[in-house]
Amino acid sequence: MPAIATASNLSNHPKLKISRYRDQLTRKRVEGVQVDYEYRGKKYSYSIRLSRTACNYGGNRNWWLCPSCTKRTSVLYCAGLYVCRHCIGGKYGSQLEQPIDNLFRRLDRIRTRLGWQDGIAHGIGERPKGMHRSTYDRLVNEHEQLTAKVWQASLDKLGCTS
Ligand SMILES: [Zn+2]
Repeated sequence: MPAIATASNLSNHPKLKISRYRDQLTRKRVEGVQVDYEYRGKKYSYSIRLSRTACNYGGNRNWWLCPSCTKRTSVLYCAGLYVCRHCIGGKYGSQLEQPIDNLFRRLDRIRTRLGWQDGIAHGIGERPKGMHRSTYDRLVNEHEQLTAKVWQASLDKLGCTS
């Protein structure tokens, strides 16, 4: 995966240009634009935050804040969520399609290594006999971070991010 997507693979993704919203954004100052759409059978509903900068010749210019990395951009690309071209070309872009499945796979791998029962509902288990304390701590830490991401990904699916 390249760090920045090339024009040819970007064209596979639906685009969202800030210029499309110019009229409604000049009339009043808004913090975000609510988007509702369906992509590959999944429904998405959330608000994309905006940023405003002053123009040299007066007036203001609006930008999207990428929902993934919060960088300013004038075009977002859809890969499930709308993200900037850096995110869609990077690691996150490839994970957007099936974020939860990937996270669960990684969680299960850690749980297997620790000898814990599969499934995060079973919570944190004991340190296996013979495993180094620091290894155990590292795996538990990783497990917790992945669990937090699973929750976040579930919220994203439900459209609770803002
Ligand atoms: Zn981004």
